[in-house]
Amino acid sequence: MTADPLHDRPSIDVLAIAAHRDDVEQTCGGTLLRMASRGLLTAILDLTQGEAGTRGTAGDRAREADEAARILGVSWRQALDLPDGAIENSLENRIKIVRVLRLLRPRVVILPYWQARHPDHAVVATLGYEACFLSGLTKVDTGAGPHRPFKIVYASLYADVRPSFIVDIAPFIQQRHAALMAYRSQYVNQAAGSSLFVPEEEIRERTFAEARHYGLLAGVRYGEPFVQKEVGLVDDLTLLPVQSI
Ligand SMILES: [Zn+2]
Repeated sequence: MTADPLHDRPSIDVLAIAAHRDDVEQTCGGTLLRMASRGLLTAILDLTQGEAGTRGTAGDRAREADEAARILGVSWRQALDLPDGAIENSLENRIKIVRVLRLLRPRVVILPYWQARHPDHAVVATLGYEACFLSGLTKVDTGAGPHRPFKIVYASLYADVRPSFIVDIAPFIQQRHAALMAYRSQYVNQAAGSSLFVPEEEIRERTFAEARHYGLLAGVRYGEPFVQKEVGLVDDLTLLPVQSI
């Protein structure tokens, strides 16, 4: 997406940073939908363009990512040009992300969890964190003023880790699925790569089952899990969510 909403309002509320186009749709798309429904401005930064994928071209994925962004109601989405499958936590890459952070000035950044099967996902957790830190340093000169996000949370759907909290995505599960299926070159049943990819019906079954599992942990129908490094702070014990017994 190239539309620039920033002339209306100075900053994005929630920015999701991911290695690959379609990562966000799988791990925190329902959360972005929920935030947008609350009137918050959301954005997605994909770090690669998907040129290493078995199915479809980077051009296909760009069009599909725009369609998914429309379904998710995000205000801004772009992809950097980091090498797909070989993302490195280098100063050059950190600075590329700093430029985006200083443009969008997000309050909250969502990153992938730091332990992951795909090496790109694990690298992005650290690369993204360090970019958020650098972005706050005045002496790192990119031509834009410093900005450090207030909060970083880690989308942990594919990690074997107990989440810090769950976001209730029950009202948005169908829309989230539609955003994922916007990647037609990846997920619509086809011969190419059929030994690597699961059928369309199974994608639905798996993603709904995962959302159901995490929802149950928090007493809702469908949920997305997140880890935060900080300890929570409570103002009123009587307003704590999620029933204990
Ligand atoms: Zn990925």
